[in-house]
Amino acid sequence: MVDFNSKKLIIAIDGPAGAGKSTVAARVARKLGYVNLDSGAMYRALALKAIEGDAAFEDEDALVKMAHGSRIRLEPTVSGNRVLLDGRDVSGRIRERDVTEAASKVSVHPAVRAWMVARQREMGLGGGVVMEGRDIGTKVFPDADLKIFLDADPVIREQRRLDQQRIKGAPAESMAAELRERDLRDRTRAASPLVAAEDAMLLDSTHLSEDAVVEQIERLAREKLAAKG
Ligand code: C5P
Repeated sequence: MVDFNSKKLIIAIDGPAGAGKSTVAARVARKLGYVNLDSGAMYRALALKAIEGDAAFEDEDALVKMAHGSRIRLEPTVSGNRVLLDGRDVSGRIRERDVTEAASKVSVHPAVRAWMVARQREMGLGGGVVMEGRDIGTKVFPDADLKIFLDADPVIREQRRLDQQRIKGAPAESMAAELRERDLRDRTRAASPLVAAEDAMLLDSTHLSEDAVVEQIERLAREKLAAKG
């Protein structure tokens, strides 16, 4: 059970791709002396294992079996999470296009999600975490101390992703279409679709600088901490 007497908060940051969750979560965590945990990286790691093991993304049973036989570790660093899959550093590989696509497909399965949610709860139980994803405030930590739903205009989100891809030198042509497709899948899947928790604070980063978003979340977190006594 969550230790509600602990002074260390659980902060949930959810939202669609390109809204700026990862950078913001890492910066907020640093300011508070917390760890940032990127739940999407876990879906990506399982997706990579499915690609390498030739498992079909539609085969829920095979994917769950694979998940049970996997060790997925997130190591928080100042620039995001280092991701270890069965002891191998896959931090770079899981950001590639095929894994990105696959992650959004393996994440639709309820049994896969149940396995992920159980691991994520274990990681965050002690508090002092900023966890980002799609269902953190609704499913992983419905009692989180602070829930943020970080959104931005789709055009801006697509542009941010395009810029990131360009930096990586990856082809950019169909990026926007792929992002829209993944978004739609996340928002319309039956199991834990991407929605803001009723008690989430909605933050639209379309016209806000990253600094402004970080400052707002930090201020809200400090208010929560003060209220905890
Ligand atoms: O956040 P990121 O883009 O790395 O997540 C990769 C994919 O994992 C998303 O497209 C989404 O389908 C899935 N995901 C999820 N629930 C989470 C985090 C990610 O379904 N909490």
